[in-house]
Amino acid sequence: MTALALEIGPTRFAASRVAQDVEADDVRQVPIPADGAWDRCLALLKEVAEGREITALGIACAGPIDMAAGVVAPAEIAEWRTGFAIVAAAEAAFPGASVYLAVDGVCLALAERNIGAAKEAMDALALTVSDRIRGGITVGGFVVVGRTGNAGNIGHVLVPGYDEPCACGSRGCLEAVAGGAAAVRWAQDRGWGGASVDELVAAARVKDEIAAAALGRAGTALGLAIVSTAALLDLDLAVVGGTMAAAGPALWEPLSAAVAAHAQLSYLPGLRVVPSTLGELGGLAGAGLLALTPRR
Ligand SMILES: [Zn+2]
Repeated sequence: MTALALEIGPTRFAASRVAQDVEADDVRQVPIPADGAWDRCLALLKEVAEGREITALGIACAGPIDMAAGVVAPAEIAEWRTGFAIVAAAEAAFPGASVYLAVDGVCLALAERNIGAAKEAMDALALTVSDRIRGGITVGGFVVVGRTGNAGNIGHVLVPGYDEPCACGSRGCLEAVAGGAAAVRWAQDRGWGGASVDELVAAARVKDEIAAAALGRAGTALGLAIVSTAALLDLDLAVVGGTMAAAGPALWEPLSAAVAAHAQLSYLPGLRVVPSTLGELGGLAGAGLLALTPRR
């Protein structure tokens, strides 16, 4: 019995064998190639399987997906943008293996709920804020999948007071304000000289004024989206991970202030917002949990 986990995008493929949990030491990663994406995935999976027969595969993929059809359409992979039948492709490559697919945010919520900071929480929001934003929700102890498999996509809830165009085609989405790529662009437009989210976070830590303002803006928008979601779903906990969340007070102080300012309903002040403990492995760990489903 060999179960594998695969995480797709937005910038890399990551894969690991899974027994109980994904172990960081076993994870192998490659950048997404310009073409031949599925061949690269297969090569990576065979590499981590090390000749063993693959019996189960859990796939976490950047959205959107069509869960019932087993089709993914991540914007970041040009050749898959209009839809790639990944479950059928995986079943053909590994005959007899059970293949499970979920959007990366749902996998993240699964991981936080089972092995992360949301272990004790029946009603929780899990999100990562890196270049992009992904999220997943747990309600009544169950991770919510939604009609098509894309529930919890908090990056595209609208944030009042912002009107930035979003890659999805709408305007004022959380990701267009608080996603790392958006925050970098905002800072660059104001004269900041860096190029990446890591650089932006490092600059904010040493009190670069523009970088700190970009993080502050992102923190406020995140706080607004989190408290709105908590009002809707009566949440106990929000778990925030990703590169931007590593910025420390520059992000967390405005985030907490926005939550506190808007948590006016009687049930909202109990909402806790905490950092993730899963690092970059949340999505992949969730894919591992999917792969282990039949044996749990
Ligand atoms: Zn959007």
